[in-house]
Amino acid sequence: MTCHKCGNQLFVNDQYCSRCGERVKSNVSQHESTVINDEPQPSKGKSPILALILSALVVGLGQLYVGQGLKGIVLFGVWVLATIATAGMAMFVIWIINLVDAYQIANKVNQGKHVEEWEFF
Ligand SMILES: [Zn+2]
Repeated sequence: MTCHKCGNQLFVNDQYCSRCGERVKSNVSQHESTVINDEPQPSKGKSPILALILSALVVGLGQLYVGQGLKGIVLFGVWVLATIATAGMAMFVIWIINLVDAYQIANKVNQGKHVEEWEFF
């Protein structure tokens, strides 16, 4: 494969020519990567509803369930401290954030997406 603009020799995975910077048309490799990303990975399946219920019972428990153990524990600690510091005002707010987060992360895991330890939503 060569660059259609300057004739520079290109590697198969190159998206831009290393000499002139021209965009390399490689529809085949783009199609392949799309297919790989769309493939579901049912072995990693987590129930968003169960994550929601667990986080509703104990802040951080849903995160623990979807594999974000450290985040779940820290989230619980932050919830306790913030609740004390604000005389209970932050309690409900963090609880809601924790619920939405657990649900969204479980959804991402279900879709086979890579979820970082500290990723939110
Ligand atoms: Zn070129």
